[in-house]
Amino acid sequence: GVGDMGTAENSAVLHRDLGYDFLPLTGGSGSHLILRDRRKIFDASGGAAVGCIGWGNERVARAVTRQILAIPYCSTVFYTTKVQEDLCRYLVDSTGGNMSRAYIVNSGSEAMEAAVKLARQYFLELSPAEDKRTRFISRKQSYHGITLGALAVGGHEYRRAKFEPLLMKNVSRVSPCNSFRDRNPGETDEGHVARLAKELDDEFQAVGPDTVCAFIAEPIVGAALGCMPSVPGYFEAVQAVCQKYGALLILDEVMCGMGRTGTLHAWEQEGIVPDIQTIGKCLGGGYQPVAGVLASRRVVDVLKKGSSVFVHGHTYQGHPAGCAAALEVQTIIREQNLLANVQAMGALLSRQLQQRLGGHPNVGNIRGRGLFWGIEFVADKPTMDPFPVDEHVALTICERGLRDEYGISVYPGTGSADGIRGDHIIISPAFNVREDEIEWIVETVGRLVDD
Ligand code: PLP
Repeated sequence: GVGDMGTAENSAVLHRDLGYDFLPLTGGSGSHLILRDRRKIFDASGGAAVGCIGWGNERVARAVTRQILAIPYCSTVFYTTKVQEDLCRYLVDSTGGNMSRAYIVNSGSEAMEAAVKLARQYFLELSPAEDKRTRFISRKQSYHGITLGALAVGGHEYRRAKFEPLLMKNVSRVSPCNSFRDRNPGETDEGHVARLAKELDDEFQAVGPDTVCAFIAEPIVGAALGCMPSVPGYFEAVQAVCQKYGALLILDEVMCGMGRTGTLHAWEQEGIVPDIQTIGKCLGGGYQPVAGVLASRRVVDVLKKGSSVFVHGHTYQGHPAGCAAALEVQTIIREQNLLANVQAMGALLSRQLQQRLGGHPNVGNIRGRGLFWGIEFVADKPTMDPFPVDEHVALTICERGLRDEYGISVYPGTGSADGIRGDHIIISPAFNVREDEIEWIVETVGRLVDD
């Protein structure tokens, strides 16, 4: 236990009950989290892959404070702020003009809700005949957020289970691109891609190709699969299927975007551009709750022709403090050339993880990109059998890591409890992580897994 804070009995917070007490967090400095008893924990995952410039950054704190003192809130019915305009301009420009407008919200879930509604509105404005487009196709073992709409388009069995009757029914799911667990014997990358593209095509046919608004996928599957990149050519192939049927491609970059994988947008490494994209975690690096939706010219031009507005809106959309934090975090990433460090330290992390843990009898697969790495565990290496879900292997490893003898924070696979996926942990340090810190992370995670 941790004393008088965060225990199930004495807390007024409606916590999740995960079977342990929460640690009282009082500070943060660089890559370290500081607890009330001054104990330090190395944050090797930036929470849920949120922290990207570390903690205690005074530049961001000052930028947010300046904005709050100038004007903390902006009602977007009549007003805009320079900080919102500047952030959206920066985001649009960062896509090389492929995206033409941005919409700033407060969480990844809200961003996904907005993306879903934007796709629907696009077809309504496109032509009266497109009114029948009400369906979405997403992927199994996916996570797109916790609100009802985001949960409905996700495929996280555990998080959906209790709320299933409340969720939109017009969503169907195809297989994710999982090169570790879903490979037929002797199947090549090309064969795998062709099989998944056909599965998607068949799904369009099954539900009625002219009823689908969009296909939704995460370029690199974060929490649901443990940093699983797709096989080369996958996104080009699924985009071609979407284009064949006139549907949009929505990419969820809430976790893998904004530099996490070594390029500002994960789609830059896939040879495609989405029609709608969501961003979140590394946008504000945890300094404010801030996320966003980017809409391509194709989508925006239709909205312009039609009602010219997105029929949507939150009290706190485009929140000035959130925008100020995001703009400063992104400025720091650019000025300090941190994407180059993500690439260099990511390559080192990958190499060292493979060396240290690749041969471990309970490590089935190590995969990722940039500073976004997943380790998937197996109970038995030859058969690749996962550990039983109720053993909570990943959660147990992560919780043990917090103890003094390790002092490391890594992120557990949340468990879709579908019996297919194995447990995994995520390692996703800040973009400014140093070489000696990478070595320490690998050494410490190695000990943790050995023990
Ligand atoms: N999409 C993905 C891929 C995520 O990983 C998450 C959060 O983990 C979300 C959406 C939802 O974001 P939030 O928790 O900020 O609502």
